[in-house]
Amino acid sequence: MALGARPDGVRRHNRSTLLHRLHTVGPGSRTELAAELGLNRSTIKALVDELAASGLVTERSVEPNGTAGRPSLLVSPRAEALCVLAVDVAVERLTVALVGFGGRILVGRNSPARRGDTEHGVVVERVLAIAETLSLGGLRPVGAAVSVPGIVRRSDGLVHEAPNLRWSEVPLGTLLGDGLGLPVAIGNDADLGAMAEHSRGAARGVGDAVYLSADVGVGGGVITGGVPLRGSTGHVGEVGHMILRPDGRLCYCGCRGCWETEVGEQALCRALSLPEDTSRRRLVAELRGLTEEQVAADAGLAEYARWLGVGVVNLVNLLAPELVVLGGLLAEVPASLLAGVEQRARGRSLVGRAASRAVRIRPAELGAQASLLGAAELAFERVLPNS
Ligand SMILES: [Zn+2]
Repeated sequence: MALGARPDGVRRHNRSTLLHRLHTVGPGSRTELAAELGLNRSTIKALVDELAASGLVTERSVEPNGTAGRPSLLVSPRAEALCVLAVDVAVERLTVALVGFGGRILVGRNSPARRGDTEHGVVVERVLAIAETLSLGGLRPVGAAVSVPGIVRRSDGLVHEAPNLRWSEVPLGTLLGDGLGLPVAIGNDADLGAMAEHSRGAARGVGDAVYLSADVGVGGGVITGGVPLRGSTGHVGEVGHMILRPDGRLCYCGCRGCWETEVGEQALCRALSLPEDTSRRRLVAELRGLTEEQVAADAGLAEYARWLGVGVVNLVNLLAPELVVLGGLLAEVPASLLAGVEQRARGRSLVGRAASRAVRIRPAELGAQASLLGAAELAFERVLPNS
């Protein structure tokens, strides 16, 4: 016990640490949990008994491997005991879901949005209407969080700017909080994607990772030393607006040659000689349908991969990640092109060459659900310490 810490404070801390462990890692035996949390057997028993009495966990007997030893009790989170409302506002779709303790999506609705049909008042009304239908069946969320493709102020949920939604200074946290009667946190989509891939996806257990995601825009989230990098504004990772080609295309941000103009959705369409307004479904189908020979022979894709690699080299020099996780449309880029990008990241970056472990580039594991699950994590971060 820390000097001066009060016993009830220590108990609350232990309870919160145990809840967090069960939520992010999943079931564990009492013995494992005691060892991981550095607690003795009687303390872990008392904590687990307390959580079981309040319905947050279940315990069941599992046979040990082999014949020796007593059956041990496996402690599992009960998803239905505690849930949050998670919302992913994307340019082309709106997803609203209830996510249970342990990170499982219990129920969700995914509805397409027509481009340009993302006025914030309409989005707020749709979220409230869908949330109402999801609340049926006795499941009541205790917190909520929303992923938005823009620059947000975490403290009060103000969306400063979300260019691809055409939002500016939208008090989304307040508007939804009033409607839902719940505290609502707002986060940037790539930041939340990074958080989810770090806790449940491709970057699990990795201390230093960069998550890059291309949708209509390109964004990034950074995990450093196991925690998200926030910067002075609470948000870093506008990597889509790194200027790579000062004589390049004009970006909506006012600059020329931003990375987004070279590797965003429209750039990918151009690389495949498709119209820039090609639907997401068609674009993904075209990418998945390419043979290795077609990829190897395509000059447009080679040029696309070159610019993807140039940006990744800059990020590796700047942040020295062990792993770069590619999400959104970037997860659909053919593996042979990504292998080339990885080679470039290792060979052309000073930091990459000096690193004790070569930087790896991997597609995201959570797919289109990364930002939604990240929003759920943001809500749980606030809820678990008080549960
Ligand atoms: Zn830009």
